[in-house]
Amino acid sequence: MVASDPLIQLDNISRSYSLGEITVNALSDVSLTIEQGEFVAIMGQSGSGKSTLMNILGCLDKPTAGCYRVGGIDVAKLNNDELSALRLSTFGFVFQRYQLLANYNAWENVAMPGIYRQLPRNERQPHAMQLLAQLGMAERAEHKPSELSGGQQQRVSIARALVNGAEVILADEPTGALDSNSGAQVLELLREFNQQGVTVILITHDKEIAQQANRVISLKDGLVIDDHTELKYPTPKQHSDTPVRNRIKVFPNISVFESIRIAAASLRVNLFRTLLTLLGIIIGVASVVLMIAIGEGGKAEVLGRIESIGTNLISVRPGGANLRRGSGDIATLTLDDAAAIAQIPGVVAVAPERSTRATLRFGGNDYSGGIKGATPEYFSVRDWQLSQGIFFNQKDVDQFASVMVIGATIRDNLFTASEDPIGRYVLVNSTPYQVIGVLQAKGADPMGGDMDDEVLIPITTARLKFFGRDYLSTITVKAETTEDVTRLEQEVEDLLLARHSEEDVMVRSTESLVETVTEAQNTLTLLLGSIAAISLFVGGIGVMNIMLVNVSERRREIGLRIATGAKPGDILRQFNIEALVVCICGGTLGILAGFGGAFIISYFGVAVAFTALPALLAFATSIMVGLIFGYIPARKAASLSPITALAEE
Ligand code: ADP
Ligand code: MG
Repeated sequence: MVASDPLIQLDNISRSYSLGEITVNALSDVSLTIEQGEFVAIMGQSGSGKSTLMNILGCLDKPTAGCYRVGGIDVAKLNNDELSALRLSTFGFVFQRYQLLANYNAWENVAMPGIYRQLPRNERQPHAMQLLAQLGMAERAEHKPSELSGGQQQRVSIARALVNGAEVILADEPTGALDSNSGAQVLELLREFNQQGVTVILITHDKEIAQQANRVISLKDGLVIDDHTELKYPTPKQHSDTPVRNRIKVFPNISVFESIRIAAASLRVNLFRTLLTLLGIIIGVASVVLMIAIGEGGKAEVLGRIESIGTNLISVRPGGANLRRGSGDIATLTLDDAAAIAQIPGVVAVAPERSTRATLRFGGNDYSGGIKGATPEYFSVRDWQLSQGIFFNQKDVDQFASVMVIGATIRDNLFTASEDPIGRYVLVNSTPYQVIGVLQAKGADPMGGDMDDEVLIPITTARLKFFGRDYLSTITVKAETTEDVTRLEQEVEDLLLARHSEEDVMVRSTESLVETVTEAQNTLTLLLGSIAAISLFVGGIGVMNIMLVNVSERRREIGLRIATGAKPGDILRQFNIEALVVCICGGTLGILAGFGGAFIISYFGVAVAFTALPALLAFATSIMVGLIFGYIPARKAASLSPITALAEE
């Protein structure tokens, strides 16, 4: 500021509002000069334009005509961020209704504007405390506004107006809501600060209050009708020599850390509502994690079962386009086919089999179980282990022996725990078979069937007693190595095509089964995942909704922050980060809930697989949700007009 530039200079300022057809001239052609250190009262009846003038002086509003200069700088030439910077460094607002933030205590309210000039918290607090002490409020510094009287609240708001070293205090009816005693104290404080060099512009409709200022400017219907100075006490010497231009310093946006702190404070106020909102995100993320854990668990389980059978096996079954069907029999595969396959190089073993069901009887127990005719190779191909006894051998096959090796389920159903099945005779269709071995329990097969619910007898015996003809239900071929499987699959197919002269068998390796199962399970996982993603989306809409409510509810807070020097960018960041904090909390809780849920259901025997990827994915998604769904509310907040927001009660 050049020495000759007045602090405040209004030249022919007009402000009109158009309400449809009607135009209201709130201010008409106002020209004023206010020097540093003055104590001015702007007086007028309600509706005379006082608040409009104050908003223009405080750079919260722009005139429709005329020129407003602060320290010689034309305010119209400043952009929004520079206007914020000018408010931050030069103006302090005191409002009739104090406009304190309810969830902050006294010193936090005072310290709040310091955030916007990047003052670290550990410097903000002592400064705020010192100001409060100066205002006789040291003891009440930790109290929330609701615990303070009106006069005390107004003192907090004066401290807040001064905390950034404001040169001008703009006080709109500061005593309007106070009893005369507290009102007088507030005026006394304003006068004290004026004596220290602060320019005070006091707005009032009350003549008696106006009389206490050195200069009284009277407004009527937007016009200055009187302006006279009558010194009741000395005007202080000018104390600021920082040129205004140097004070239009735009600070960077508030730090992320600071935004998180603001977010935490405001979310705490509405903890229950916040938690309800979070529920959408929590359920979304938890279901992503849980569903994928179940999907992956199921896949791992099925693949594990296939692995346990062996990945070097090829199964040959009747089937294909030209299937011949006999009376219930599928008359294709024969023992001769099995013998021919055994000749292919790379084939280690060939196990033909034929299955049916029959009623087994031991003592008084009847049980319907699977009967499988097989050869000794079957045990080695399947790599099955005995818990008791022996397998049958080639001699048993050659002699049509009536012997059986029983599965664990059969054992449990026919015999009591204390009975030893070995050597006992089990009746099947009135023929006694001697039990020579009991298989170890193997659990479920890849398709979920019980592999233990089965009795194995020599295939020759089975053909004789059950089937009559030598057609087979399956030939299992064991390849020497897993690498041979694909080649052998083809050779077996070619061989059988040559032997049968038509395609009437299906050749499948466990390898190809793994592929099929993996594909099916991946599809399932994808499906489960997309259902979960939808719920996450719904959760995101919930977050947007609550953030919009948040913005509407906190219009006054936003207006106040803007009035005290927050840039639109600061507000944008604050609300963006608030949405992000909500979503990150929701994401974290959701992941915990998802893993917790998976843990619980795994306890009940459902296969789950804990993998990091879905959790990371869900977490990243919830961050995205926060960013995307938080943006619209945040932008709404940042574009809010502080004048209308602060005018609301
Ligand atoms: P005071 O503070 O002296 O009571 P104001 O400055 O609030 O007066 O208002 C001056 C005139 O401008 C009034 O007639 C009022 O109705 C009008 N006015 C103020 N703000 C608005 C607005 N946002 N839209 C339309 N008219 C307004
Ligand atoms: Mg007013």
